[in-house]
Amino acid sequence: MEDKFDCIIVGGGIAGLSAAMTLARADARFLLIERGEFCGAKNVSGGVLWGSDLARLVPDYWEDGEGFERFVAHRRLTFMDPQSAFSVDFKSDHFQETPYTGVTVLRAVFDAWLAGKVQEAIDASAHPEESFIATDILVEEVLMEDGRATGIRAGDEVFHADCVIIAEGVNNLLTRQVGLEKPYVAGDHVAVGVKEVMQLDAKRLEDRFQLRGRSGLTNEFVGACSEGVEGGGFLYTNRDSISIGLVLGMNELRDSGKTPYDILNTFKAHPAVADMIRDAETVEYSAHVVSTGDIKGMPSEIYADGVMIAGEAAHLLLNAGKAIQGMDYAMRSGILAAETVVEAKKANDFSKAMLSNYRKALESSYVLQDMRSFQDAVHLLHRKEMFSTVPDLVCDFGRQFFTIDSQPTQKASAMMRAAVKRHASYWDLVKLGLKAARSL
Ligand SMILES: Cc1cc2nc3c(=O)[nH]c(=O)nc-3n(C[C@H](O)[C@H](O)[C@H](O)COP(=O)(O)OP(=O)(O)OC[C@H]3O[C@@H](n4cnc5c(N)ncnc54)[C@H](O)[C@@H]3O)c2cc1C
Repeated sequence: MEDKFDCIIVGGGIAGLSAAMTLARADARFLLIERGEFCGAKNVSGGVLWGSDLARLVPDYWEDGEGFERFVAHRRLTFMDPQSAFSVDFKSDHFQETPYTGVTVLRAVFDAWLAGKVQEAIDASAHPEESFIATDILVEEVLMEDGRATGIRAGDEVFHADCVIIAEGVNNLLTRQVGLEKPYVAGDHVAVGVKEVMQLDAKRLEDRFQLRGRSGLTNEFVGACSEGVEGGGFLYTNRDSISIGLVLGMNELRDSGKTPYDILNTFKAHPAVADMIRDAETVEYSAHVVSTGDIKGMPSEIYADGVMIAGEAAHLLLNAGKAIQGMDYAMRSGILAAETVVEAKKANDFSKAMLSNYRKALESSYVLQDMRSFQDAVHLLHRKEMFSTVPDLVCDFGRQFFTIDSQPTQKASAMMRAAVKRHASYWDLVKLGLKAARSL
């Protein structure tokens, strides 16, 4: 074994494992270090892994069928007031086609499965004895010499590499240590995510949500689910459980004086949600910080001499109202960072100039293109009207439209005017509608 790895990856989450898989396939020598007992032990997601990058990493993963819970076949967005729920619902046979548009995952299962696939790739590589996945080890420091990253320190142990990929997730302490992130991340660039996994017999779950085989439902919520705090809710079906949770703006939550746990209980007690989780038993509760997807929250740069930052450590995430995309962004950025290592190794050049190719690749991928294109939508979602006025108005209209009470019935346009009058100024709403139309 050489005394130096081509690359050390810090973090065995999705970004780190995706980088590792790419390096193993390219016959590079690497060390991946994860602080959890196993990969996935410490990780939280809603979680839907969107897009087709998983198929790029593990071709035909659906045939193995082990890592994921269900594929997304049915999507729903629900506006809530305290009593009502008005949903936009979409189901289509095209969702049955592989590669799926998304799969639900439980991270303790998924990350461990992906780590197993990485180990298989290591075993099949040209240097099966010279690449490692090491768990239960906390990296405390990235070693720097003359402004260049040269390795890592974990306790008394020191390991050297030509390059370090920091894939440590949103609590990016090492990214701060190497000087690419400010010492304190602004509160409006992060949110609090809370989630419960609720067990329900697979047959009952499939009957309740009209699922066939491994098909699944994703349901996002906005309005009363967050009790006036900026944010929204989600409910996703797994094989024999339901993931339910909230993502709440950090500053708003602090100012509200409410606890995420109490807000989650109110969400679960909403009549539309209570019917979906009836008789399901909470088997897991977790909480995690999550980036808001504001591009201003990204570190000052995502590469320097001998080091690159991948995944949510670089605040790569998009939440523009359609879905939270953090895992697919982590996957693509991990792949691109590793591909940059492979090119750098060929050129024997791990300088900042060489590693800038990582930034360029990310800029031309959907990750930074979408983050840039949908920044207005990200900011729009933070406006109070989006999680209070709009859902209240939509539910008010729905109540009138769907109620038949043996009285003369108004036209839908009159119902809408009445609802608008009760909740907002007409012109404010027109302005908001135009902004929404432009930003999405
Ligand atoms: C409630 C909630 C719901 C979400 N829902 C979705 C969703 O539905 N879809 C979606 O795409 N995204 C979702 N996200 C976001 C998504 O989970 C993240 O964007 C994604 O996990 C980022 O992956 P990552 O590999 O960058 O970081 P992580 O998954 O956080 O992995 C980082 C890894 O690094 C390890 N680590 C950290 N520091 C060290 C160290 N010093 N030494 C060794 N190891 C270390 C950690 O233990 C961890 O395993 C959600 C997040 C939350 C909190």
